[in-house]
Amino acid sequence: MGFLSPSDAFALNYVTNSCGYLIPANLHEEWGQCVVCRGAANPGWETCYQCGQHQKNRVGNDLVERIGVIAYALDGNQTALNMRAYKDPPANDPERHMIARQMVGYLLYLAFRFHLGCIPAGPVDAVVWVPSSTGRSPHPLHCILLKVWELIGNQVLLPPLEGWVQRLEGELIKTRHLDPSGVVLVAHEPKQHVLVVDDTWTTGAHLQSVGARLRQYGWEHVTGLAVARWVNHGDKQDRQKPLVAELLKENEIPFHDSAVSFCPFLGRDCGYGPNR
Ligand SMILES: [Zn+2]
Ligand SMILES: [Zn+2]
Repeated sequence: MGFLSPSDAFALNYVTNSCGYLIPANLHEEWGQCVVCRGAANPGWETCYQCGQHQKNRVGNDLVERIGVIAYALDGNQTALNMRAYKDPPANDPERHMIARQMVGYLLYLAFRFHLGCIPAGPVDAVVWVPSSTGRSPHPLHCILLKVWELIGNQVLLPPLEGWVQRLEGELIKTRHLDPSGVVLVAHEPKQHVLVVDDTWTTGAHLQSVGARLRQYGWEHVTGLAVARWVNHGDKQDRQKPLVAELLKENEIPFHDSAVSFCPFLGRDCGYGPNR
């Protein structure tokens, strides 16, 4: 990377000093994480229940090839609150809203600025986001991505394509199942590799639906990026329990020790951070 731009320095500074509560979504296979989404896998299985269902139900291999995850959102912790607050109307709590947006924005900034080159499928040709389940437009994630693009400049990527993926009114909201038919694509020329960004991965059905639709449309490679992997903390009968216990231990290690070189796409320190 060589040198840090003022935006790099600002983003790093923000994440390291103001987001000490972040738990990076490191890949720890020994913890029983799902190899797809880093949620809790069922004992003896490689994937969580939902990812297992997606694999079972999709013939033709149109699932997203790799999911990048930046942080865990444990139900009730600060990251989880932020992932909700960033979508709330600013007037409800302007300060919280701003803090939440900054967190999402700078995490995405760091991922795009330093780790796009880490995706095994190769250079990214376009970026799209998972549309809102409420049909709200513009989606807050879209606004943040535009801001991030402005900061990064256009050398790295095409700008996010506005209005590129729409959701049929109500279609996907009723179901948590993977269903690409609910996703409408605005006509465009498919290229090689598209990155689909979502804010929070819960079951993955939305991101996988958009990804599958893009594959059907002719994109060769689809990679996903979720800002946060949602984990239910208080769930009593709990597949998540062992994972949550490990995450809470992990939480004792401040994020700033790893924020700089943590790679959402590889789930570890990739050696390609700004300190390279
Ligand atoms: Zn999974
Ligand atoms: Zn990386």
